[in-house]
Amino acid sequence: MPANTEGSFASRTKWDVAVVGGGTAGFIAALAAARAGAQTLVVERYQTLGGMLTGGLVNGLHTMRIHQGRRTVNPYQPTMYQAQQVVRGIAQEVVDRLVDMGGAHGHKGESASVVRFDAEAMKYLISEMLEEAGVDVWLDSLMTDVVADNGTLKAIVVHNKSGRHLVEADAFVDASGDADVAVAAGAPYEIGRPEDGRTMPGTMVFMMGGVDLAKTFEHLRKNPEDLDLGTVDGHEQRHRAGQPIMLTNFKKSLAKAVEAGDFPVGRGAQRPIPLCGIATGIRDGRVIPDETTHVMDCVYGFDLSNASDLSEAIRLSRVQVMAAVKFFQKYIPGFENAYLLQTADQLGVRETRRIVGDYVMKADDILNAVKFSDRIARGGRALNVHSEVGGAIGEGYGGQHWFEIKDAQAYDVPYRVLLPKNVEGLLVAGRCVSVDHMALGSLRGEPLCMATGQAAGVAAALASKLKVAPRHLDVSLIQGVLVAQDADLGGIPTAPSQTNA
Ligand SMILES: Cc1cc2nc3c(=O)[nH]c(=O)nc-3n(C[C@H](O)[C@H](O)[C@H](O)COP(=O)(O)OP(=O)(O)OC[C@H]3O[C@@H](n4cnc5c(N)ncnc54)[C@H](O)[C@@H]3O)c2cc1C
Repeated sequence: MPANTEGSFASRTKWDVAVVGGGTAGFIAALAAARAGAQTLVVERYQTLGGMLTGGLVNGLHTMRIHQGRRTVNPYQPTMYQAQQVVRGIAQEVVDRLVDMGGAHGHKGESASVVRFDAEAMKYLISEMLEEAGVDVWLDSLMTDVVADNGTLKAIVVHNKSGRHLVEADAFVDASGDADVAVAAGAPYEIGRPEDGRTMPGTMVFMMGGVDLAKTFEHLRKNPEDLDLGTVDGHEQRHRAGQPIMLTNFKKSLAKAVEAGDFPVGRGAQRPIPLCGIATGIRDGRVIPDETTHVMDCVYGFDLSNASDLSEAIRLSRVQVMAAVKFFQKYIPGFENAYLLQTADQLGVRETRRIVGDYVMKADDILNAVKFSDRIARGGRALNVHSEVGGAIGEGYGGQHWFEIKDAQAYDVPYRVLLPKNVEGLLVAGRCVSVDHMALGSLRGEPLCMATGQAAGVAAALASKLKVAPRHLDVSLIQGVLVAQDADLGGIPTAPSQTNA
């Protein structure tokens, strides 16, 4: 008996599928598994489901479509429907239900390039969908350890108010974002960029209220260097028509504030100007014109899967948010009387551990839109890798690396990126799947995390039902269930057991 099953447990339970993390990928994985017939448990460390979607205030799904021509057509525009949609399935169902509730901008059946949604509506909807599907949900419950036998994951240990619990399952999904389960079970992983392990920055998203954007548009007209994407007229027209907008990146004003000593360089940043975008959002079916959600990169050079780094990064992010609020009030017309409305409950974490799986997806696979016959999802998001060292004055959009897919094609995500090496009985979904640092710039987008979540949930349910290890499942079976669950695989390949990479 492994040491960590010794001692007393408040409960010992057995499930077909157990999902760790009820965030962006995890709640979808749990839904997909339950709908595929598995008795499913999801374990979430916080009281809110949704992860970055809700607690992180990252309230724009980007993107269910192929993302091309950033500078020409501004695909960050939440009213853009032109490019081909490539993520559907449960993600689209979530959008449809949000639209029904007045919790997302858009209409049912398809998604805009960015779907702006209300994080409060999302919190409610996730709970409701899990309840309808019969998923058991343990909130305020932290997965702390694993029990493995000969490389096969048998159980996880969960701590909560009621004590220590042993949770056994036929198959597990690690949707913790940080690959907590996979790493505890001995899977190899990578972190950050290859040369020095530096990751994309952490960002505490915040909201401001009492904003008068009419004045901001005037400011942008006089200071065109402050607007990175789209035209002032276009944004203003959409704003007046009650549609959501996103404005980036106030570069000139930020440079002025830095020079005047009014804006501190983010901790760990080698260069002063952070990525900075503001967006209007939706509540109760309408865009609220005087509220803005702010994404301004804050902390660089931390390992946000390390508890003490994370604590310090959160403290510093709050310092940075206060400085950012003062910056907007002092330097950006329209914000003179605005106030800090809310900060996210969770620091926004873009990148920590990525498992090394049976296949490591590379940036080139995406840029060349390589096709895989074991595909379980398709993506169209450009490689959007935020600067690991901070932006520079003069650089576009905070020093972000930005690469688009050749010929505006969709790329395939192979099943093998969900399978951590050296561990059996486990699938990984969300931002900790097996990709390289640059490829993560695409797969970390919420729609792709939802799509890998759906695939992992289906595969885990099949593994339980057929008593086959996830690694040995016939991929065509997974693909069949995914298509039945409305996932877009661009047609099922004819030779499912073959892969081209
Ligand atoms: C600031 C910022 C801006 C972004 N902007 C966009 C954007 O505009 N559009 C877009 O599409 N994407 C955006 N992204 C990317 C996207 O939001 C994330 O990559 C994605 O949501 C990650 O999904 P996930 O399921 O992997 O992780 P999360 O959504 O973080 O879910 C992980 C869940 O696991 C739980 N958990 C972790 N460890 C444990 C444990 N040991 N036990 C129990 N529970 C655990 C967490 O509490 C959380 O609920 C942004 C990200 C950031 C940080």
